[in-house]
Amino acid sequence: GKGAAMVTAVAHRLAEQHAERQRVLDALRLSREQLLEVKRRMEGEMKKGLARDTHESATVKMLPTYVQSTPDGSERGDFLALDLGGTNFRVLLVRVRSGKRRSVEMHNKIYAIPQEMMQGTGEELFDHIVHCIGDFLEYMGMKGASLPLGFTFSFPCHQTRLGEVSGILLKWTKGFKATGCEGEDVAVLLKDAIHRTEVSFDLDVVAVVNDTVGTMMTCGYEDHLCEVGLIVGTGTNACYMEEMRNVELVEGDEGLMCVNMEWGAFGDCGELDDFCTEFDRAVDECSTNPGKQRFEKMISGMYLGEIVRNVLLDFTAKGLLFRGKLSERLKTRGIFETKFLSQIESDRLALRQVRSILQHLGLISSTCDDSILVKEVCTVVARRAAQLCGAGLAAVVDKIRNNRGLQELSITVGVDGTLYKLHPHFSTVLKETLRDLAPQCTVTLVQSEDGSGKGAALITAVACRLKEGKK
Ligand code: BGC
Ligand code: MG
Repeated sequence: GKGAAMVTAVAHRLAEQHAERQRVLDALRLSREQLLEVKRRMEGEMKKGLARDTHESATVKMLPTYVQSTPDGSERGDFLALDLGGTNFRVLLVRVRSGKRRSVEMHNKIYAIPQEMMQGTGEELFDHIVHCIGDFLEYMGMKGASLPLGFTFSFPCHQTRLGEVSGILLKWTKGFKATGCEGEDVAVLLKDAIHRTEVSFDLDVVAVVNDTVGTMMTCGYEDHLCEVGLIVGTGTNACYMEEMRNVELVEGDEGLMCVNMEWGAFGDCGELDDFCTEFDRAVDECSTNPGKQRFEKMISGMYLGEIVRNVLLDFTAKGLLFRGKLSERLKTRGIFETKFLSQIESDRLALRQVRSILQHLGLISSTCDDSILVKEVCTVVARRAAQLCGAGLAAVVDKIRNNRGLQELSITVGVDGTLYKLHPHFSTVLKETLRDLAPQCTVTLVQSEDGSGKGAALITAVACRLKEGKK
């Protein structure tokens, strides 16, 4: 009768809604074929970036770092290190001991960089940095000291020789856009700020270091097979030891050099267009750098929450979520921080807790079904990120293997970054993907303990040694 017809109609509508949700989510699911294609394209871009003739037009810049060996344990001394470009700005004092008492001891203090400063003038930003250094020196009771300084500056920089510091900022990423810095030498920007603010200390900037390189160095201090550094945090990037003969931008064919890939920019010439969704495009368009860092925007912590939010917006607008009610909260950019993504996907978490996280975010009307769906969206988005990262890394390790003409390669990757470390499934999916896409490589991923601080100090120590040697 009538009742049965109504039940059928409801069942039909539910099935349709389910199909619509899955259709949307399917666009965020990548097949093995697609991932292999990502790997192949990454390989192509790496070659383009390394070669003199094609470097200019390459999206993956493959920047020479002039770091030519991993630490050997003979490094020593006291160093200051700065770490800018991750979740926090930090100033560190690092004591490196060599020989039998070989160790690295660190003290650090964290400082906030307010949004206005990230997006104001370069002078304000660097004055603030100098102010923080002054505060740190006072805090450590070493106001007058002048120590060699390593600057972990986690943005794409054009570098020249180690020991003749220079790191020219090519472009800001990760929401930074302080004016007057792009095209400038960050060591000079720092020195100018010291003069401008008339502080009572001086700094001897000895090395400008990318966080990936610091991470690789820190891990390499313990494990000699470590020849790759990976960051999956606010942003994403990788570096690795490349054959000098392939590093065409630098004279010489002997030995190895660490190359800062800047893989976040992969996709900036359309290499990822066939895998992008409308949600990726929305996130890109609302960012501080539209059209730039497309790979990074599909992988790293600064953007994953935004992708999720855009999917939820779409579902809500279609009446598939939150009873179709678009709240102001959901329309607010940045409400899904990485830590929420990690929490929501935690296996230990009951649905009731997912719901309480959503309520904490101000998404109050959520029902149990809503919680299930939100969690599924988080899973799909994070899984795709880990797989893309795995496809990129597969290209790197296979390139190293091919460079050396090996059938099999065992290699260690030093990893850092909040997303990698805090997310309950990211590393598992990453490893799974690597095994699948680079089966001839046995890859060990090692979490590096504070590569940005320790690594900068180690590289500074090497640079000091080189400098001393030249005198
Ligand atoms: C920067 C890289 C950095 C990475 C991870 C990217 O946005 O361009 O230089 O290594 O973030 O911090
Ligand atoms: Mg060369």
